[in-house]
Order: sequence, then C-alpha cells, then structure tokens
Amino acid sequence: MTVRIGVIGTGMIGRDHTRRIQQVLAGAEITALSDYNPDAARAVQADLAPDATVHDKGEDLIAADNVDAVLVCSTGSTHEAYVLAAIAAGKPCFCEKPLATTADGAKRIVDAEVAHGSRLVQVGFMRRYDAGYRMLKDVVDTQIGAPLMVHAAHRNPTVPEQYVTPMAIHDTLIHEIDVFRWLLDDDYVSAQVVFPRKSSHAHARVADPQIVLLETAKGIRIDVEIFVNCRYGYDIQCQVVGEEGLANLPEPMAITMRKQAMMQNTILTDWKDRFVESYDVELADFVQAAARGTASGPSSWDGYVAAISSDACVEAQEKSGQIIPISLPARPALYD
Ligand code: NAP
Repeated sequence: MTVRIGVIGTGMIGRDHTRRIQQVLAGAEITALSDYNPDAARAVQADLAPDATVHDKGEDLIAADNVDAVLVCSTGSTHEAYVLAAIAAGKPCFCEKPLATTADGAKRIVDAEVAHGSRLVQVGFMRRYDAGYRMLKDVVDTQIGAPLMVHAAHRNPTVPEQYVTPMAIHDTLIHEIDVFRWLLDDDYVSAQVVFPRKSSHAHARVADPQIVLLETAKGIRIDVEIFVNCRYGYDIQCQVVGEEGLANLPEPMAITMRKQAMMQNTILTDWKDRFVESYDVELADFVQAAARGTASGPSSWDGYVAAISSDACVEAQEKSGQIIPISLPARPALYD
C-alpha cells in the first residue's frame, strides 16, 4: 500500500519532509499540501509534488479523501488544532515538536487519542532515531550497569536576535528532555537552572550559557550545558556514567586530517546536517505504522511529558537556583 500523505506547513521542515517522502523513502507519496501562505505550498508543489492538491485550509487537507495520513509542520502554535482534527478524522498524524505550546494543550491531545482507543500520533523527536543515540542506548541498557549521572551539552554557533532565554528550553533543551527519558527509561522529578558568567557574544535578551540540572525518579542526576553562542560549531555531547563504566555519544563521522604539525577534524555548524539521517528514519517509521492505520515512536504522552518538564525548566530559569519539582499524572495504559 502507498500511504497518501498531506503536509500542513510548507516552510523549512515541511519542505524537507516533502522531499524525504517524494525522493528518499518508499511506501508513501505526497498527495496534498497546505500552508497559511498559499504561495509557499504552491512552490513546494511545483518543486517536489506536482500531483499534490493545494488546500487553503489545513482542516480541508485533513478531511480530503486522498489523504490517509497527515504531517503537521506548521508554526508550533497551530499544532494542537491540526492534531486534534487528525485524531477526530481517525488519520495517523506526525506532528513536529512541540506537540502543543502548552501542557494543557498536549493533555487535550492525549485525552482525544485515549478516547479514540489506539495510537495515531507520532511526535517529531528525531533524536530517538539517531544511530549514535541508538548505539548509546544499547550500551546503557546492557554494558555499563545502572546509570548514575549524565553530563551533556547542546551548543550552537550563534542564534538570531529573536532567540530569547526561554527558547533555550522550548526550542533547544526540548530534544534533550525527550531523548534522556528514552535513553534512561525514566522520568524527571525536579529541575534547576543556573547561569554562569554571560558570554559577551550573547545578545541582550538571551542569558547564555545556562546549566540545567535535572533529577530523575531513579535518582540519576543530569547536567546539561546549553550554550547557543559557542562560536565554533553545532556540538551535541552526551556522556552516561554507570556503576560499571561510562559511555559517550559518538561524534559525527569526520575526516581526521594531519597538516602543518596539527591534527584536526571538521565540526558541523548546521543542526540540519547533524540529524539528517534520523529525520529519514523517523519518517520511515511513521510511514510503516501509518500503512497499518496506527503510529509508533515518540507518542502524544511523550509530547505531553516534554511540555510539563520544559515548563518546569522555564520556571527554574525564572527562579534561578531554586529546585522546581516536576510531577506527572498517571500514564494511560495506551502508552505502556
Ligand atoms: P517555518 O519555516 O516558519 O515554516 C512554518 C510554515 O507554517 C510557514 O510557511 C508558515 O507560514 C506556516 N503556517 C503558519 N501558520 C499556519 C497555519 N495555521 N496553517 C498552515 N500553515 C501555517 O518553520 P519551520 O522551521 O519549518 O518549523 C515548523 C515546525 O517544525 C516548528 O514547530 C518547529 O519547532 C518544528 N521543527 C522541528 C525540528 C526538529 O528538529 N524536529 C526542526 C525544525 C523545525 P507563514 O510563514 O506565512 O507564517
């Protein structure tokens, strides 16, 4: 079966996912496109999906007979309404992060999916599909004994003027928040944020760098450095310390060069290059599950927990130094 997919939001990531479905992956085709800006949808249609129908409204795309499954790639504030509409239509839905911009919004999606009775939603937490993180999880699960600590860093060379302090949580740390729950099979119980000396390269509205300290239900302590003006590259680090040993996230493959009495590797500068293959794998997973009328991978529940946890981290930024408790409601059986 070829899964007929409609894409809502044809900006940067919507265009890239359309390319992926049309040119990289098997088993699916793009049959519909929609964007708040119809010219953007028509441009993607012309470049990548000439047979797709362009809809003015995302709701019409979700209802269309030639759409079996939906990719929600529009601006974050619009996700909740589209995901709820896809669930109401009984269509599998891949939603880019965030699932919703509030924890209450994410809860409404969880409730709707539970009422539907089976999984329909996959959230775009692509790090779970990254080959390096998967290797790390295998080692954490089998080789280094009980995990005790995680030391991590998320560094970007620079960020635009619109990037303000809470975005370090909602847009940057959100990927660590999800992937560490998956990596450690654990949930957070508290968050604390401290601010080192501010980099002179950071603009006025962003406190940079930051250190986020998370504690899990099993007592694992996690420290994450967020440094979005590090200058030198896009650099994701993760080290898990266990009872029997420690394991590091592998570095991206790079040529090691020896020249002029120096040994050097290139460091990536663009996050899109760092996780390009994981986007392919996550969408392949979505297509396979959608062909069976369901969804797998990161769930609405994971999106909801990420929203609760990131709200606590933002509160911890605002009350720097204080430990902010994180408590989660009971997990519905649908997500066991
Ligand atoms: P973008 O380039 O701004 O694209 C978003 C598109 O959605 C724009 O064309 C926008 O139109 C359109 N849009 C706005 N409101 C809409 C509505 N109600 N219905 C339909 N389309 C609407 O943003 P992006 O970088 O692609 O990001 C899109 C989403 O993907 C965000 O939630 C972002 O967090 C997420 N994302 C995730 C990852 C990841 O690593 N998983 C990476 C990048 C992005 P206008 O420009 O006219 O407003």
